[in-house]
Amino acid sequence: MKIVWKMFHHTPTTILLLLSVTLVGATSNMRRRMGESIAGECRTPYSKHENEVMREAFEKINLDKRQTTEIVFDVHFNVVAANITEAGGWVPDSQIERQFEMLREGFSGHGIFFQFGSTTRILSSNWHHNLNVPEDDILERMLINYGTLFRKGGATSLNINLILFGSDDETYGFGLPPSLYRAYPELDGIYVRFTSLPGGASRARQGSTAVHEAGHWLGLWHTFQDGCEGEGDGVADTPAEAGPASGCPIGRDSCPTLPGLDPVQNWMDYSAEGCRDSFTAGQVARMQAASRYRIDVLS
Ligand SMILES: [Zn+2]
Repeated sequence: MKIVWKMFHHTPTTILLLLSVTLVGATSNMRRRMGESIAGECRTPYSKHENEVMREAFEKINLDKRQTTEIVFDVHFNVVAANITEAGGWVPDSQIERQFEMLREGFSGHGIFFQFGSTTRILSSNWHHNLNVPEDDILERMLINYGTLFRKGGATSLNINLILFGSDDETYGFGLPPSLYRAYPELDGIYVRFTSLPGGASRARQGSTAVHEAGHWLGLWHTFQDGCEGEGDGVADTPAEAGPASGCPIGRDSCPTLPGLDPVQNWMDYSAEGCRDSFTAGQVARMQAASRYRIDVLS
């Protein structure tokens, strides 16, 4: 139960050197609540319960206030590296700056603004490799311990945790929806494969992963949620989609009996880098409601 670390101050970056850690943590029911995750590139946990919590919360948001009050979130990068090489996750500041700009550009036109907060560097091979989707209690405890030590701010602080995930799996990230904040404030934020930043080693992703995961953090689900049936993503103007897109199949119509072509250029699909670049008006309205929920209700 001993945690030892040394702190060095390098303006504007803080470096935290984690020497040893033994895990402690409370049990919880996250495993059950996250049981409906979609396997694949993004492992953001979807559940009908979370969907219902957000639907009810967003309906109470004051529309007038939503339209007149500026929405600003601070952004904190937590770089969790195995060693101090770029290959080991020690992401250069230049990539973090480009990622922040891409994030800012993705949302600023929709009335949602991000301001740079901090970068924290954490040297921990264990967390670099294993800070991952909470599929079991050990990982969940790791996440809680990690968050207790390193998460910055409250419900309006977007923490971007840069990690590896499994070196041999396809996971690039996940984001926790605002409905989970009250139960797991230590975990709130997004978790992003460090190679996916602009200029990073990934050939598949160059920055869009963090924008996509921030969409989840602001209450959005995947455009292909529920396929051609069910409640979909809860947004009226995103056409139903049978499953995630790959490449950039503009014109695809995977639910031909339902209105609209597949929204393959939407940030919340899995389409190729450079293909997905937009949110719909309905998604923007939902994110603005989620923003007000974070600012007015959770804070
Ligand atoms: Zn996702």
